[in-house]
Amino acid sequence: MKVFSRLVFVSLWAVVVLAAQDRPPNIVIIFGDDIGYGDIGVFGHPTIRTPHLDRMAHEGQKWTNFYAAASVCTPSRAGLLTGRLPVRSGMMHDRVRVLFPESWSGLQQSEVTIAEMLKQKDYAAMHVGKWHLGHLPDYLPTKQGFDAYYGIPYSNDMDATQPGDKRRHALLHPDRIDYWNVPLMRDEETIERPANQYTVTKRYTEEAVKFIEKNKDRPFFLYLAHTMMHVPLFRSQEFTDRSMAGIYGDAMEEVDWSVGQVLDALRRNGLAENTFAVFTSDNGPWLIFDTHGGSAGLLREGKGSTWEGGMRVPAIVWRPGTIPAGTTQTGMGSTLDLMATVAAMTGTKMPDDRKMDGYDLGGAMKMTSPSPRNEMFYWRGTRLFAARLGDYKAHFFTQTGYRDRGETRQNPPLLYHLGRDPGEEHDISRENRGVVARIRKLAQEHELDIDEVENQLAKIGDRN
Ligand code: MG
Repeated sequence: MKVFSRLVFVSLWAVVVLAAQDRPPNIVIIFGDDIGYGDIGVFGHPTIRTPHLDRMAHEGQKWTNFYAAASVCTPSRAGLLTGRLPVRSGMMHDRVRVLFPESWSGLQQSEVTIAEMLKQKDYAAMHVGKWHLGHLPDYLPTKQGFDAYYGIPYSNDMDATQPGDKRRHALLHPDRIDYWNVPLMRDEETIERPANQYTVTKRYTEEAVKFIEKNKDRPFFLYLAHTMMHVPLFRSQEFTDRSMAGIYGDAMEEVDWSVGQVLDALRRNGLAENTFAVFTSDNGPWLIFDTHGGSAGLLREGKGSTWEGGMRVPAIVWRPGTIPAGTTQTGMGSTLDLMATVAAMTGTKMPDDRKMDGYDLGGAMKMTSPSPRNEMFYWRGTRLFAARLGDYKAHFFTQTGYRDRGETRQNPPLLYHLGRDPGEEHDISRENRGVVARIRKLAQEHELDIDEVENQLAKIGDRN
C-alpha cells in the first residue's frame, strides 16, 4: 500500500512537472519612467537605496549597454511593445515629441504588440501604469492585446492646472495633486480625476500582485510601467523623507520596493523559475529638473538627447535557473529586442509581413553566445542623429535634450569609442576616418530601409 501511494505521488508529481515544463514562461516587464543609468544602487548610485533591484541583479543579470528605443516616452514605448523603431510606426515627430491630452491618435491597430503576439499561446495580459500610446478609446491597452488596464494613460505632468509661470514651481513642489488633472483609468473608464499620485506607485503594485495571484495557473504577461520617476515626483506616506537622496530618492526607493513586491509574489507562488522578468527605463533622466531629475551616472546628457545618457538605460533581466545569477552582460541590447527575445522563449511568432528591428537576446542572457546586436540607431524625431557600430559611435547631429536653441550638424561626424570613453568626451574622428566612413555607410543603408509612414504624433488639437 505504501509503495502504491508512493507510486501515485511520484506519477502525480511527474504530471505536474511535465505540465510546468510545457507551460511557456510568464513575462513580466517592469518599466521605469525617466530612470537614469546612474539612479540605481547596483548601477552605482551612492545614496539611493535599491535593495530589491540589487537583489534582482544578484539573482539575475545586469546589462550595461542596453538602450531604450528612443530618448522620450511615447516613441520609446512604441518601440518596446512592437519591436520596431518608432519611426516605422509613425510614433515619432520632430516637434511634437510625445502624445498629449489634445492628441487624437496613437499606436495604430495595424501594429502588433507583444501582448497581441502572446495571444497565440493564450496568455493573460495586463498593463498597469503609464501607457502613453493613445488615451482615446481606439488606442487604449485593451485595443492592443491587453485584457485589462489600470493606470494613468499619459505623463503625470499633463492636464496642468497651473499657468505657465507657476508650472515649474508646481513641478518642483508637488504638494498638491490637483495641479495635474490627470485621469486614473480602469480598462476603458476613468475612475479617478485628478489621480491621487501620492499612492499611485503603491496602487500599481497592488494591481500587479493581484494579477499575478489571479493568473498563477496559466501563462501571463504583466507590463508594469511606473508613472514615477517622471516629475512631478510623488511618494506615499511610508516613503516620505526617508531617503538620503531627497524626494527623488524617496520616490525611487518606493519603485524599488514595488519591484520587490512583484518578485516576491512570483517566488511565493512558485513561479520564479518559469518567469522572465525585466526591469528597465523608457529613457534617461530629465536633467532640467535639478535634484528632481535623476542621473545618467558617467554617461553624457539625459532624456531627450541622443547622447548616451538619453538612451542608454539601466537594465536587469531575471529568470532563476535559466539566466546565470550575478552576471553582467556588456554586449549591446535594446528594448527593441524584447519582442524577439520573448517570441523565442515562448514559442510564439512575430509578424513576418513588416520590418522588425529586434534580436533574440536569449543566448546572450544565458551567456552561451554573444549578443547578436552589434549596432544601434539613435533617432531624434524622424531624423537619424547618431549610430553605433561595435564600440564606436558617430554623431551626425547633436543637440541637448531640452533648453536648446537647435541642432548642430557635425561634419565630419564626432566619433567616440564607448568602451574606453563611455562619457563621450574625447572625439577621435580625425584618427579614425575609416571607422567614420563605415558608420556613415551603415547609417545611409539604414535610412534607405525606413519607409515613409503617416505621422501619428502630428495629429493634435484641431482636427481640421
Ligand atoms: Mg519618460
